[in-house]
Amino acid sequence: MSSLLITNGHLVTLDADNRFIENGSIYIEGDQIIDVGDFATGTYAADHTIDARGSLVMPGLINAHHHLYSTFARGFTPPGPPALNFEQNLRNLWWKLDAALDSEDVYYSALLAAMHAARAGCTTIIDHHASPSCSDGSLDQVERALRDVGLSGCLCYEVSDRNRDGEGIEENERYIRKCRDSDDDQMAAMFGLHALMTLGTKTLERCAGIGHSLDAGFHVHAAEDAVDVQVTMQRYGRRIMDRFLDFGIPGPKTIFVHGIHFDSHEMDLLHSTDSMLVNNPESNMNNGLGLAPILVMLKHGVTVGVGTDGMSSHLISQARAMYLHQRTLHRDPNLAFVEACEILLHNNRNICNRLFRKPRGSLAPGHLADVIIPSYVPFTPLNANTFYGHLLFGLSFAPVRTTIARGQVVVDDGRLLHLDEEAIRAQCSERAPRIWERIN
Ligand SMILES: [Zn+2]
Repeated sequence: MSSLLITNGHLVTLDADNRFIENGSIYIEGDQIIDVGDFATGTYAADHTIDARGSLVMPGLINAHHHLYSTFARGFTPPGPPALNFEQNLRNLWWKLDAALDSEDVYYSALLAAMHAARAGCTTIIDHHASPSCSDGSLDQVERALRDVGLSGCLCYEVSDRNRDGEGIEENERYIRKCRDSDDDQMAAMFGLHALMTLGTKTLERCAGIGHSLDAGFHVHAAEDAVDVQVTMQRYGRRIMDRFLDFGIPGPKTIFVHGIHFDSHEMDLLHSTDSMLVNNPESNMNNGLGLAPILVMLKHGVTVGVGTDGMSSHLISQARAMYLHQRTLHRDPNLAFVEACEILLHNNRNICNRLFRKPRGSLAPGHLADVIIPSYVPFTPLNANTFYGHLLFGLSFAPVRTTIARGQVVVDDGRLLHLDEEAIRAQCSERAPRIWERIN
């Protein structure tokens, strides 16, 4: 079993005691943290030692909602007139892009995005995948990419009736069984659903039945745009959360994504069913969809997390967008700073701990050895009172020097040395124009 020692760091443990340790060390064996503290360097004889050079050292970040398949959309303008609303945006861009991907495109889009994530200090990704032209086995391609980079992932396939009824059900079932029957905790699985606006009653019934029989949580977009609320009300005479409740979808392992248009009753349902809600502020702003009432949800006791929704693989900027978002919404300069940081660092960790077997998100013995060393030496005091200021005003702009995922150094001095980055970029540059041609 390989071992690794990190020395000379400003440790931000985010552990139960929220310890900040100056000149601290971390000892890792295999994929697990064994010791954290200010112990003498000779205490452990490790295979490798990393000198943090006085930099801040913290747990790897977690992305609670991503679309790795969206990578090749960068710079692309869909043909035809510009989308005037959310539904047109789905039809003109996203549903054409995902249909244009072949199996190797799925691998390379996930690989490139996972490399970006690792470089931005993210070590676990909860992904929501769609590739209707090659749905069978597609989650294995996403898994292959995450394993090649060295990250952990919780995967699902986005079931909808938009191409054919229940497309993707089999892929979810297959992949959930695969993860359930494996001892390996690097990958986990959920049952993916697009949104109520693209899911008919028969499909929902089938998904709920299979998901429940496998004891899987669901991962589904909800109330992202008013059209989702309107369609559900027109077709079924139900609010979104009531409709989901009819099928037993809410629960402690289920993630609802966005929630911009949830009302107070639906927030109560999120809380009473112990469901999770993941918001994506940059994506919501990009789509011109409005602002989610995050602070109201927290008051309702909802477990709120944050993701990137395919916009980027950079997490700290999401927490930054979230608090700025709330201050704009409420026109109050004192709101949401602490909450946004806690959502990113504590709630995303708690969400992961419901989906994976091994705990992560703290520098603590027994936790998964996901550790990052940003190129960031604090020049003002670093402690429990000041850390969130460092996070949102300093670390959000600092490159990550070293990323350790599952005990392995995956980013070293900003580079992924175990991968041929040049060859991967060349391969992606060849693929992108071919994908764009298929959309046009
Ligand atoms: Zn999404």
